[in-house]
Amino acid sequence: MSLRIGQGFDAHRFASRLNTDPSPDSGARSAPWGSASSEDQRGSEDRPGGGDGSITPLRTLRLGLLEWPGLPPLDGHSDGDVIAHALVDALAAAAHLGDIGQLFGTGRPEFAGAESVVFLRETVGAVRQAGFTVVNATVQLIGNRPKLATRRKEMEDGIGQMLGAPVSVTATTSDGMGFTGRGEGLAALAVCLLRAGQ
Ligand SMILES: [Zn+2]
Repeated sequence: MSLRIGQGFDAHRFASRLNTDPSPDSGARSAPWGSASSEDQRGSEDRPGGGDGSITPLRTLRLGLLEWPGLPPLDGHSDGDVIAHALVDALAAAAHLGDIGQLFGTGRPEFAGAESVVFLRETVGAVRQAGFTVVNATVQLIGNRPKLATRRKEMEDGIGQMLGAPVSVTATTSDGMGFTGRGEGLAALAVCLLRAGQ
């Protein structure tokens, strides 16, 4: 049996910047998890093309294809779902299809602003098209929040259904060190195994 392994990594910063102060003693480190009101709204300066002073509603954190009400979203390409993005890279690498930038980057304008669920679905389709079946996948989230325990099964089931294979999701912290330890963003590592044939 021909097997292929792939790995992926992704990281994004939290988008919420209201109530932050650049001075080091201002408590800005905890800003992404600040008051509820700061998470409800953010200035249009956070969005491309903004700047007219209007306040736009804050999106909700999207992680592992789930919505996390009350938590600030991740910034960056698409919805910033580091778990989905790391999985896309792992799957694409295992099938020798390149990486997420190659698959959905500026060369593919039809995917501009697409949700991560679209990226993952397209990637699984491309993996099958290339003649592979997903055997299993694991993802590890690195960050302080959210706590995955209560929704781990929901997340594993949702992603597993899309991959057509068992998926394990785990989480760890970086012991207060680095950008994940300071609560500035989240990172994820993914590994997947493919076998040749349908
Ligand atoms: Zn990403």
